[in-house]
Formats: sequence, C-alpha cells, structure tokens
Amino acid sequence: MRIAIIGAGILGANLAYACARAGADVIVVDAAGPAAGATGRSFGWINASFFHDTAHFELRAAGIDAYRRLCRDLDLPVAWSGCLCWEEEGEALERQAKQLNDLGYSAEIISKSDVKRKEPHVVPPPQALSFRTEAAAEPGALTHMLLSASQAKRLMGCAVEGIETLNGQVTGVRVAGGVIEADRVIVAAGTHSPALLAPLGVELPMLHRPGVIFQTKPVPKILTHICVAPIGEFRQRPDGRIMMPTAVSHQSDSSDTLSDTPEGLAEAACARLQAVMPDVLLEWEEASLANRPVPKDGLPVLGACGVEGLFTAVMHSGITLAPVVARILAAEVTGAALSNAQAALVAPYRPDRFQAETPA
Ligand SMILES: Cc1cc2nc3c(=O)[nH]c(=O)nc-3n(C[C@H](O)[C@H](O)[C@H](O)COP(=O)(O)OP(=O)(O)OC[C@H]3O[C@@H](n4cnc5c(N)ncnc54)[C@H](O)[C@@H]3O)c2cc1C
Repeated sequence: MRIAIIGAGILGANLAYACARAGADVIVVDAAGPAAGATGRSFGWINASFFHDTAHFELRAAGIDAYRRLCRDLDLPVAWSGCLCWEEEGEALERQAKQLNDLGYSAEIISKSDVKRKEPHVVPPPQALSFRTEAAAEPGALTHMLLSASQAKRLMGCAVEGIETLNGQVTGVRVAGGVIEADRVIVAAGTHSPALLAPLGVELPMLHRPGVIFQTKPVPKILTHICVAPIGEFRQRPDGRIMMPTAVSHQSDSSDTLSDTPEGLAEAACARLQAVMPDVLLEWEEASLANRPVPKDGLPVLGACGVEGLFTAVMHSGITLAPVVARILAAEVTGAALSNAQAALVAPYRPDRFQAETPA
C-alpha cells in the first residue's frame, strides 16, 4: 500500500514511522522541511495535567505511554524530567491535585523547601505540584529522527497543490511537475490542512491562535524540571538555552491576536523569567512566532474524511499526542483492526463532527 503523508511536522513524522512499521510504502511531502511549522516552535512539553475533559485526559495519558514505548524502541531526544507546577495556589492547587489523582494521575503536592531542593535557582512558591511522569521533547530533533527511522521517502520544499481523486477514491497528490500516486493520503499539514481538504468537500474549521516562544542565550545547567509558574512555563534545553512561551498558561491561551510585537513579548516574558531566576543573567536570543493548529472546538481531529482513502490528523498539543494518534491512525489507514481501547480513545475526535448536515 502506497501512503502519501502531507506535512513533515511531529504528526507527519510519527505517522511516517507508524505506517512504515505497519508495512506501508510511505512518502512524506512538505512545502518547506521537517518541523518547519508549529513543531519547530513548540515548547515540547509532554503532559496530561492540562486537559479539556476526561476523554481528552485519557488520550493525553495514552500519549505519555506511547512516548515511553517509542523511547524503548529508539534513542530519542526526550527528557523524562518531570514537571513542577505552581500556576495555582492554596485550595485551587489542592483541587487540581485531587482531580488528577482521582483520574489515576501522579500529582503530588510538595512544599516550598522541596521545590527549593529540586530547583535551587528558582524563587520557590509556597507549594507546587510534582508531575513525575511528564517529559520534555526537543521537537525539531525528534521529528528529524523519526523521519529518518521511518526510512520513508521524503520530498521537501515541495508544496502539495491538491489531492487527486477518481470515482470518489484518492489516487495521489498533485505537486509541481505532476502527480505522486498513492492509495491513501494523510493530511497532516497543521494550519494548512483545511485548504487541502476543502476542495474535496471536507470542512475543518480552525481557530486562529498565534503563539510566540523565546529562548535565552545558553547558561550553565540550572534547571532540571519543566516549570509551570504564574509567570509562564519554562525549561532548559540540553544546549543550555532556557525556553518559554510568552503567553502565561499558554496551553489554554485563547487570544487570536498578539498583544505586542514578538520582540516586545519576548522582552517582557524574559523580564518575568529573570525575576523568578535571579541567580543567572538571562538574555533572550531568539523569539519565534507560529500559529498553533487548533480545530474550532479546541480538540484533535483525526481519522477518515469521508472520501475513500483520505485521512487527516490536526491538533494542538501535537507533541504530546502524535505518537498515540499515529499508532492508531496507521492501523486504520492500513486496514488493521483497532482494539476496543484504541477505538474508544479516538471516538470523540472524528472529522465528521464538522461536516455540514446534508439537506433533506
Ligand atoms: C508556541 C507553541 C508552544 C507549544 N507547546 C506545546 C507543548 O508544550 N506541548 C504540546 O504537546 N504541543 C505544543 N504546541 C502545539 C504543537 O507544537 C503542535 O500541535 C504540533 O507541532 C502540530 O504538529 P503538526 O505536525 O500537526 O503541524 P506542523 O508542525 O505545523 O507541520 C505541518 C507541516 O505541513 C507543511 N505543509 C503545509 N502545507 C503544505 C502543503 N500544501 N504541502 C506540503 N506541506 C505542507 C508545513 O510546511 C509544515 O512543515 C505548541 C505550539 C506552539 C506554537
């Protein structure tokens, strides 16, 4: 079976790996290059402590499990550092811990002195939550490694202009110079996915969610965990740079415009970061702007699209979700049966929830 995957972000790379392992002949086509979209500008936090509802929690928790499996198979740039979170305080923090513990998630309340011991260079809050099972990925490097491990063919700098069909069945993707034939096409083009699906009558309404992330110049190793504070979320990369989205609570950020230039946002966010990490001089070095791929209801969209052989996978929190989603979608695309547990995980996220009612 020939599968063409449009998009070489974290979704496309995981799909390439999973489909190739399922025995398919895979080609990945990207208008720019690996991780050129939201993936290369992502914070890379793998977590289930943020979620919209119980089903979304279950999918995210399965996402963490899928990373553990993937990391057993491949030597990936994923640090199982755990997360310290003090976005909330007092009773709100206790409620958050209880809610997560009731779902079976590891969330332990730790004291100010525990935070001080775990992160000696951070001004400690009165209490924090410790999420032991969470991790941080280097999204760009991870994407490159998965694409390479998939051994799929890659066409980079090559925009897909359209998806070809014959008698209601996909036959390939149209690029400069002609058509790449395929039995199945998976659209994993992030914010560009709706434009590829629309000509085939598939609706995928999206929100406009610009996000800015900055990183500092490298500093000596001073942070161990992913830290989630009222001033924002920050972590130190393996190269010593500290990174932080400029929006506080960036996972639930619902702004559709930026309140300042990316430079102004980075300046302000770096000052907030410096205030909670006074021991080392922090200077921001690079700020990046990306549109997060957020479907209209905020939830993932994945699966068959109503045209024979056409599938899609578009979502925010794609770093967390890509391995679990790719494994399930690869089974569907290649015609393997899903387990009941897999089917239940993805049932709420089908593309047909956005298709207009057929007039009577
Ligand atoms: C600031 C920020 C912080 C984030 N933090 C986190 C986090 O901590 N944890 C988390 O889980 N998620 C996070 N996310 C979300 C996550 O990064 C995205 O959900 C994920 O990267 C989406 O991956 P993707 O592969 O679907 O899309 P993308 O990475 O956007 O990839 C789409 C690819 O499709 C290509 N493409 C587009 N059109 C075409 C075409 N016509 N033909 C060929 N190729 C095409 C593009 O060039 C691009 O490479 C964050 C996002 C942002 C912006």
